[in-house]
Amino acid sequence: MTETQQDTDGLTTMTLGEDYPEIRESVRAICANYPGEYWRKLDANDEYAEEFVTELSQSGFLGALIPEAYGGSGLPIRAGGAILEEIHASGGNAYACHAQMYMMGTMLRHGSEEQKQRYLPGIASGDIRFQAFGVTEPTTGSDTTQLKTRAVREGDHYVVNGQKIWTSRAHKSDLMTLLVRTTPADQVKKRSDGLSVLLVDMKEAVGNGIELRPIDAMVNHQTNEVFIDNLKVPVENLIGEEGRGFRYILDGMNAERVLVASESLGDCRYFIKRATDYANERVIFGRPIGQNQGIQFPIARAYAEWKAADLMVRAAAALFEAGQPCGEEANTAKLLASEAAWNAAEACMQTFGGFAAAKEFDIERKWRDCRLGRIAPISTNLILGYIGQHVLGMPKSY
Ligand SMILES: Cc1cc2nc3c(=O)[nH]c(=O)nc-3n(C[C@H](O)[C@H](O)[C@H](O)COP(=O)(O)OP(=O)(O)OC[C@H]3O[C@@H](n4cnc5c(N)ncnc54)[C@H](O)[C@@H]3O)c2cc1C
Repeated sequence: MTETQQDTDGLTTMTLGEDYPEIRESVRAICANYPGEYWRKLDANDEYAEEFVTELSQSGFLGALIPEAYGGSGLPIRAGGAILEEIHASGGNAYACHAQMYMMGTMLRHGSEEQKQRYLPGIASGDIRFQAFGVTEPTTGSDTTQLKTRAVREGDHYVVNGQKIWTSRAHKSDLMTLLVRTTPADQVKKRSDGLSVLLVDMKEAVGNGIELRPIDAMVNHQTNEVFIDNLKVPVENLIGEEGRGFRYILDGMNAERVLVASESLGDCRYFIKRATDYANERVIFGRPIGQNQGIQFPIARAYAEWKAADLMVRAAAALFEAGQPCGEEANTAKLLASEAAWNAAEACMQTFGGFAAAKEFDIERKWRDCRLGRIAPISTNLILGYIGQHVLGMPKSY
C-alpha cells in the first residue's frame, strides 16, 4: 500500500524504511557531482548553486510534485521530501531551490487554468524558475497578517508599493509569489482578510518598480531586501480571489512544513554519519574518541531524535497525501526535525573538536545552515503557539 492510499477501515498508512529508492538513488547520483568542495566555494563567494539547480531541474526533480497534465511527475509530497532529504544528507543544500516545490501548490490549487497552462509546464521542465517567495516584511516579521506592502488596482493592473525582506533567490528567479495588502488593515473584518497573492515577472520588474539589495547573511541563501516602488502587475497575475491571499498561503503551509522538515532529516543523517565515522577513526589518549561516553552518547541521542522526527514527517506526509487534516502533524514534524538536526549538528561539531572549525571539513558550513531551520521559514515559538492554541486549546498567544 502506498502513502496515497487508505485501507478499508479508512486508516491512513505510511511506509517505513527507504521509500522511493529509485528516486533517492538518482538524486544521490546527481549530488555525487557536487561534493563538499562545490558547496564550500559557493558559500565562500556567496554564489548561487546554478549548475546544481539546472541539473536537478533538467532531471525533472524540481517538477516532481507538478501533476503530469502540466508536464510534471505528479508524485506525492513524500517523494518531494525524499528528494530534498537526499540533497541534505549528501552535504548539499536544497534551500537553493526548495521553494518551487511548495509554491507551485498555491498556483495549482488557486490559480486559473490559464495561469497553470502558462507557467506550470515551464516550471516542470526547468525553463521557468519559480523560486522567490515575498512574504516577510521588515516591520511586521512573523505577524504576517499585518504586512504593509500595498497593491492598489488601477484599471487592468495593480500598482504595488512597499518593502519585503529576506526574499531568497529573488534575483535568480523568473517569478515571485508576492503577498500584498489589497484592503487596508483597518477596513477588514478579520485580521486574515484583505491580503492577495500576485505573481510577479521578475525579468520585467527588476529595475522597473523593484530594486533588490542582497543581504550579507550567515548562510548562503541568496537572500535580498526588496524595495517596491510603483510596480505595475497585470490583474491577470492575481492568484485566485482578491483578499483571500493569506488563506491561500496558509493552505500551502503544511506542504512547506513537511518539505523543510525532510531537509532537516537529511541534515540529521549527514551529521550522524560524519560524527560516527570521525568518532571511530580519531584516536586520542590511545583509544577512539567514540569509546568515551561523552562523545558516543550525544551522537546516539541525536540518532534516536532523528528516528522519532522521521516518523512524524512520514505521518504528516501520509495524512497530507490522503487529504486528511495534518496541521498538527506537519507543524510537529517541522519542530522535531529542525531540533533533531540542530542537536545532531552540535554533537557532530563537538565530536570533531577543533577540526569542526576548519572549513575544509564542511561541518561548520552545515552547522550554520542547519541552525536556520529553527527560525525560517517559521520559528519554533510560532509552531509552539500553533500547538498550544489549535491542538491543546489554550488561549491564542500571538
Ligand atoms: C536566511 C533566511 C532566508 C529567508 N527566506 C525567506 C523568503 O524567501 N521569503 C520570506 O518571505 N521570508 C524569508 N525569511 C524570513 C523568515 O521567514 C523570518 O525570518 C521568520 O519568519 C521570522 O520572522 P522575523 O525574522 O521577522 O522574526 P520576528 O517576527 O521579529 O520574531 C523574532 C523572534 O521572536 C519570536 N516571537 C515573535 N512573536 C512571538 C510571540 N507572539 N510568541 C513567542 N515568540 C514570538 C519569534 O519566534 C522569533 O524567535 C528568511 C529568513 C532568513 C534568515
